[in-house]
Amino acid sequence: MSRFGTVVPLVTARALSAREFTYELPDGAGKGAVVSVPFGRSRARGVVVDVVSAPPAGVKALPVEAVVHELPPVLVDLALWLAEYYGSTPARALELIAPVRRQRRKEQPSPVERQSLEGEAAPERLSADQEEALSRVVGALDAGGGHFLLYGPTGSGKTEVYLQAAAAALERGLGTIVLVPEIALAPQTVGRFRERFGDSVALLHSGLTDAERRDERERIAGGEARIVVGARSAIFAPMHGLGLICVDEEHDSSYKQESDPRYDARTVAAKRAALEGAVALYGSATPRPESWERLERLELSERIGGRLPPVRLVDLRRESGYPLSGPLLAELGAIAEHGGKAILLLNRRGVAPALHCRACGATFRCPDCDVALVLHRDEMLRCHHCGHAEPAPSECPVCRSVELARIGAGTQRLERELAARVPELELIRLDADAVKRPEELAGLLRRFRETDRAVLLGTQMVAKGHHFTGVALAAVVDADTGLGLPDLRAEERTFQLVTQLAGRSGRDGPGRVLVQTFQPDARPLALAARHDVPRFLADELRRRRELGYPPFRHLVRVLVTGPSEGAAVKLLAELRAGLEGHGADLLGPAPLFRLRGRHRAQLVAKTDEPRRLAARAAQLLAAAAPAMRKAKLTAVVDVDPQAL
Ligand SMILES: [Zn+2]
Ligand SMILES: [Zn+2]
Repeated sequence: MSRFGTVVPLVTARALSAREFTYELPDGAGKGAVVSVPFGRSRARGVVVDVVSAPPAGVKALPVEAVVHELPPVLVDLALWLAEYYGSTPARALELIAPVRRQRRKEQPSPVERQSLEGEAAPERLSADQEEALSRVVGALDAGGGHFLLYGPTGSGKTEVYLQAAAAALERGLGTIVLVPEIALAPQTVGRFRERFGDSVALLHSGLTDAERRDERERIAGGEARIVVGARSAIFAPMHGLGLICVDEEHDSSYKQESDPRYDARTVAAKRAALEGAVALYGSATPRPESWERLERLELSERIGGRLPPVRLVDLRRESGYPLSGPLLAELGAIAEHGGKAILLLNRRGVAPALHCRACGATFRCPDCDVALVLHRDEMLRCHHCGHAEPAPSECPVCRSVELARIGAGTQRLERELAARVPELELIRLDADAVKRPEELAGLLRRFRETDRAVLLGTQMVAKGHHFTGVALAAVVDADTGLGLPDLRAEERTFQLVTQLAGRSGRDGPGRVLVQTFQPDARPLALAARHDVPRFLADELRRRRELGYPPFRHLVRVLVTGPSEGAAVKLLAELRAGLEGHGADLLGPAPLFRLRGRHRAQLVAKTDEPRRLAARAAQLLAAAAPAMRKAKLTAVVDVDPQAL
């Protein structure tokens, strides 16, 4: 008797990529089979999403040409859920679990070995907190799943809990996926897992060659590798019998993909764990308010082998010499003289022009949305959430000073000035270009490890999870750049960044942390200086609750870009009218900055039903498609956006 499969062809055209077709299946092929099928006049790759006993009435089903390989069926459910939740198409979501496989040309070594930093041996015994956390996780492994937040300061031994939980999963025949937010962090994590689990570890990230990715996926699918370390996309690893997902540095917004499908790997991890009865373990020293509020908390209270270093806020209203203030130069001079290493954070990515007062530190915020106002070219301060606009003042409304500074200016000078003022120190730069080549990155980090009197200089990346010894100084050159971002998470990010960077210093000796700012009283800075995570999160959750921000409501963002601002805003105004009365609070349309010559505007909705609202927005946009083509407008619907 014939069997038939509902197949989604993996084609990119949006009109076709939402459709399903029926084919006759060969023996043994079932849900999750990746197949080659005749499609129109050519053939296409497709995924079997369902098995049916007969094709729909009147349809003559052609036979499948070949089964290319098989995926765990549960991944099909995950992809179809993802397509619906994030407003993408089944084909685009299925492409995540079934990426194109290249032909194998020759045998080659696994990238795991080449990209591993050195691991470390297991400690003789765990701390009481680690024991407690581990036993909760193991209990959940045996009870069919659970979701936990593993909260503890940098150096409190979270990775050791992941390692031993993975070992417990392995004993039960279950696999583990370990997610890290950036490729840059993979060498260190993969090194630690490899030390413990040897060849059972696979590596998956976008920095691998096609051939490497193919081989690693085969080792995972074939059961040879039972532990996968990787960035965002590793959550779709074709592993059978998954027991544990560890999401390291869970606060990091890199887990969100910024192109279609705009999924958040943390949300997908929770869904996959739920579908498979696995344990999802989210770790951070500075958790998201979302996780703090929703997840069962496992707490590691103590830093192992040392206390958190003191943080000194350098008040730039009183110290001259930006970007290298007197206190910062003095610290760097001490390193030049006595040895040691320094990490300097230069938050250059996404600097939004904002105004603040050099005399009193006052900044300008939207009265309705409580986010920083952005200075536009027409000298207006604008809210990027709701569109509120006011003329940029010529004097400070608080203290009447006329010394208003534009945030973010002058940071480019830093590298040059460092070379001139402290030539004894070796400068090592960590930036986005280095990350594209994982081997070079591992080399850069190794060089920093091995060099005395070295300064690691870079963007957010330097504050993330790297474990270095001998770091005597960690400094944020300009904490105001982050606070000036027009985003509801600007304060959360700044707090995380400062706290995380502080954690890089003094892990094996006395360390110092400097934070340069015009706003030393700003809540995230003052609380980060005291390492007061619970207090920050309690305050932040109170603010979010009042304003209806996540985790209390979901956001859906519609971004329209085009050759004219007027047309973009007009389309969003029409969209807003069509979304009215669907239980959402609508903000905007607000014009944003031009990007690559295109005008942009956005509409933000606060809603309890993000899927319904996103579906409604997609419907309205589809109806407006002819008019949009004429006006050369493009639109993006982003569910749970991580940057606004
Ligand atoms: Zn002032
Ligand atoms: Zn506003």
